[in-house]
Amino acid sequence: MPQKETAGDKTMESIISLCKRRGFIFQGSEIYGGLAGTWDYGPLGVALKNNIKKLWWKRFVDDRDDMYGVDAAILMNQKTWEASGHVGGFADPLVECSKCKHRFRADQLDTEATAKKKCPDCGGKLGETKSFNMMFKTHVGAGEDTASVSYLRPETAQGMFVNFKNIVDSFHPKLPFGLAQIGKAFRNEIAPRDFLFRAREFEQMEIEYFICPPKDAKDSEWKKTFDDFVGEMKAFMADVGLDARKVHELEVPDGERAHYSKRTIDFEFDWPFGRKELYGLAYRTDFDLKQHSDFSKVDLSYFDEDGKERFIPHCIEPSFGLDRTVLAVLCDAYHEDDMGSEEGKDGKKEKRVFLKLSPSVAPYKVAVFPLLKNKPELVKKAKEVFEMIKKELAVKGINGVTFDDNGNIGKRYRRQDEIGTPYCVTIDFDTLEKDAGVTVRDRDTGKQERVAEGELVTYLMQKL
Ligand code: ATP
Repeated sequence: MPQKETAGDKTMESIISLCKRRGFIFQGSEIYGGLAGTWDYGPLGVALKNNIKKLWWKRFVDDRDDMYGVDAAILMNQKTWEASGHVGGFADPLVECSKCKHRFRADQLDTEATAKKKCPDCGGKLGETKSFNMMFKTHVGAGEDTASVSYLRPETAQGMFVNFKNIVDSFHPKLPFGLAQIGKAFRNEIAPRDFLFRAREFEQMEIEYFICPPKDAKDSEWKKTFDDFVGEMKAFMADVGLDARKVHELEVPDGERAHYSKRTIDFEFDWPFGRKELYGLAYRTDFDLKQHSDFSKVDLSYFDEDGKERFIPHCIEPSFGLDRTVLAVLCDAYHEDDMGSEEGKDGKKEKRVFLKLSPSVAPYKVAVFPLLKNKPELVKKAKEVFEMIKKELAVKGINGVTFDDNGNIGKRYRRQDEIGTPYCVTIDFDTLEKDAGVTVRDRDTGKQERVAEGELVTYLMQKL
């Protein structure tokens, strides 16, 4: 039975199609029919993703004195995952249809399908619910025995816990301090869906922030750190330009939190397909360091020079999905309007599609054009202006200036609007003859301003 199409489906379809058309994101292994739950980033997608990573690293590592960056291996000793609880419990409930053999997550079926045990795709009978471990299992080396088993990490977090002692021994940090990491994670999701939202291979940006354990039940110092991170996570969402009105904090109630967490807040986003998790913030107590101490037999306690005492620190974990950030930014930025609309083949006016990306994440910040492509003097001047802007903005740490002389000027504006370039600079005959400056066009309003060549970089700097 086909699912009813919603407005959300249409928006997602338009976003996915724009991503493919304009070289942001492609289906993984597309020429072979794809591989469910995998996505390949093209040049503009990589630029967008890298801009997000840079903003994250700047806010959470470079601008702080209490953070240590790490980049741990994806393959880890199998004991890591026994200690973390993933071997025993990282599972989702799976049901299979006896007729069409489609598989579903039992906890994501609608109430009718659950009550009647009826397949939502073909109406066939659903089988018993089984537990399905989501880790990708592999073997390290030539042997295929149990000793060689390893897993593609399902989260980056454990790579930081197992390096806690290395950082303490080499940097001697004082508590509180954190480890931060950006890297790939893999989950064999039963039902990958909603584009980048639920993939089988994705990237995370995570922090394990270590604090002193509470002295007694009334000691609520950890709450302050937790609240500080709530503020920092919101500030990061503003850095990437997300509309704060679309983000909602959900206090995860007792009984629904992960086994290690004493408090969890999920930051949910209003996606075109509903309100669902974007990021998580959890107070993991001393669970992980204790487990790794027990399983590895290596002492992971910390000696506090001030209080002259030894203890296992507690940990607060802000966890960000990088691909979910890319998707949230794209969903938030996707707009259609009637500006400069042209008639399509069927005689109907085509809408302008544009990405209202924040300049902080836009793949290109500025595009430079000659008004006409077949006038060498215009092209020459436009190239000079392009080189000048590119060089001077790079000195100020701003990259992403592009040159475009394909098609007519209207088409170029449309193309740049579609990929979210905030400013287009056009060189025309007046620029050459009257030294009348250049035209700078604003993506969102379409307004054009004449700016003197000598003031162009300062003008753009103020806007970006
Ligand atoms: P969900 O409930 O949506 O499956 P989760 O609570 O299992 O997510 P965490 O284990 O807390 O997610 O992972 C931290 C972050 O990693 C999430 O907030 C999300 O941004 C991202 N993430 C988790 N699973 C996926 C996935 N399958 N695809 C893309 N990003 C993901």
